[in-house]
Amino acid sequence: MLISRGFRFRIYPSAEQAAAFQIFSGVVRLIYNIALEQRRDHYRNYLRSRGKCINFASQCQELTALRAEVPWIKAVPVNTQQQALRDLDQAYTNFFAGKAGYPSPRRKGANDTFRFPAIHCGSLRRINAKWSTIRLPKLGDIRVRTHRPLEGRALSITISAKAGKWYAAFGCEIDRPPLAGSDKPAVGIDRGVVKTLALSTGGTLSLDRERLKILDRRARKAQRALSRCQRGSQRRGKARARFAKVKAQAAAYRKDWLHKASHEIAERFGTVVLERLSITAMTRSAQGTVEAPGRNVLQKAGLNRAILDQGWRAFATAIAYKLAERGGNLLTVDPRRTSQTCAACGAVDPASRRSQSLFACTACGHEANADHNAARVILHRGQSAGVERGDGPAVKREAKGRKARKTSCSDEAQLSSVRSGGPTEQDGGSRACGEASIETGEKAVAVKSHAQLMPLTKAHSYRRAFDGRG
Ligand SMILES: [Zn+2]
Repeated sequence: MLISRGFRFRIYPSAEQAAAFQIFSGVVRLIYNIALEQRRDHYRNYLRSRGKCINFASQCQELTALRAEVPWIKAVPVNTQQQALRDLDQAYTNFFAGKAGYPSPRRKGANDTFRFPAIHCGSLRRINAKWSTIRLPKLGDIRVRTHRPLEGRALSITISAKAGKWYAAFGCEIDRPPLAGSDKPAVGIDRGVVKTLALSTGGTLSLDRERLKILDRRARKAQRALSRCQRGSQRRGKARARFAKVKAQAAAYRKDWLHKASHEIAERFGTVVLERLSITAMTRSAQGTVEAPGRNVLQKAGLNRAILDQGWRAFATAIAYKLAERGGNLLTVDPRRTSQTCAACGAVDPASRRSQSLFACTACGHEANADHNAARVILHRGQSAGVERGDGPAVKREAKGRKARKTSCSDEAQLSSVRSGGPTEQDGGSRACGEASIETGEKAVAVKSHAQLMPLTKAHSYRRAFDGRG
């Protein structure tokens, strides 16, 4: 049984390496955006002139030509740039399959990342119990804080930045012997407003709301400070870093919590039944807010709920693979009316939900905590017929863009316009932020892109050019 798992470690690059990371991620982002622009704006032209669509292979060929002409693009390993083209190709595949929205450009600050296929990297070399190094092309040895062992065989290494810290994520393939089914008990889980997770066995698991409140207050304060700063100023840069740091703290807390909670549940139970996440499920709690009395409780819990909504998909993903590793399984059921159904007799009546916390059946008189009752209903649904088996989070993401289309020919255009100098006739001047002249030794090459380009050899002006555009 082959399992795919990611292992992320914090890395501590030297100042030079960190500067190189910035440049690498900037160039890789640029390649992605140029390639996206080519597919988006020039596909008709390309199809007319070449008689075929732009695809991964054709863009890779053009990348080779581009690298031959622009030294600062050549200075970044070709693998990382090819990986960006591959990502874009996948983004289009997902879009045409109706699984995702139309690919959007990568942005500085949000997409500071690049990836190596692992065959081009050394493996993790252990220094002592806490530290290792990894050797990456053109970057040398980088210190890695190995807080856990790396399992399996690494297929890729992704370097990314978040809130001023750098991380290396290893995409690994682990070969495990297949497991026998788990004989541990089954549990239904209701995601609640006051208690984050209510189990059908009666227990609850909750995020620390006080802590979240503090982090939220800090984040709002940092955001206010940020909004007062003048655009492009140094203080704004600092305020932005501060805001990002607080947001990252809250995200780290939520992630830590969901992994601990899902671990505990996967250890205790063999079968877990969750509500299927859907648009209905997302709005259900909002409807409940209007119907149910005791609104103050709900208002105070609004923060908790917002956080939970975000984390629910991540929780389902985490519990799915943790269960799979232990021979357990995850089931998802229809989430409708779980809060109005009696777990004892099955009667459905909105009036049974007396308050936020109390459920009292109008048919049989069964009384219970409302979250606990809902968790039991979810468990019953999981155990009865017509269950949908969920191997993953069992969630179909709603495509933001158009529905799936039959042809795959509507991407594309020409990266060649990027390197053959000057914008193409038909769209000359149509994009205000488009052109910048780049000195490449003897001749200047005009590069069209969203980001205004500067030579990497002048790293400062390059960074400044990217900065104002977010
Ligand atoms: Zn009842």
